[in-house]
Amino acid sequence: MRRMLSKIRVTTTIAAIGVATTAAAPAVAADGPKVTMHFGVARVAGWAQEAQARAAAAAEGPFAPLIGELDLGSGEAALGAARSGHLHAGQDLFAPAGTPLTAVADGVVAAAGSDGGQGNYVHLYDPERGLTYVYMHMVQPAAVDTGDRVSAGQRLGGVGCTGSCWGDHLHFEIRAGRGMSGEPRDPLPALRDWEPLKRPR
Ligand SMILES: [Zn+2]
Repeated sequence: MRRMLSKIRVTTTIAAIGVATTAAAPAVAADGPKVTMHFGVARVAGWAQEAQARAAAAAEGPFAPLIGELDLGSGEAALGAARSGHLHAGQDLFAPAGTPLTAVADGVVAAAGSDGGQGNYVHLYDPERGLTYVYMHMVQPAAVDTGDRVSAGQRLGGVGCTGSCWGDHLHFEIRAGRGMSGEPRDPLPALRDWEPLKRPR
């Protein structure tokens, strides 16, 4: 009995650190009672599934909001820079017109449209993180509609200079909660951290 328990402990320890797969199960089964084998197989299979689920989730973003090099410009492009009558609420990313813009994460389009300030825009709500990603000045109307569900890396539109704009760029914001009413956060640390994509997914 003592020997069996120590075997279980070894198996569970190995499985817990993600080294073991189903190969660990026969080690328990070799000289333990059948119930032990079943315990080991079930637990190891469960962990393997969990590990796979975690790997799949990690592959689903967050991704950088545009394809290609991040050109963050000067301090003028940063959050909090002075604008006429207000402070800049996001980070500008400079890229040639038409550069694909992609969804940072799985989410739902809180709003997509066009106005004189934002130009063609998308507000993408990420329910998992409780954040809204804002894309402005897109070259053409968004490729998605308000209410659409989108997946991480999906194409939303292209870089442009519609609305209040002085040169092709993405004006990008991260706001707390759903929509534009939440406090803007500095996108810079996230932009430096998020995985770049080579093409839309
Ligand atoms: Zn801006």
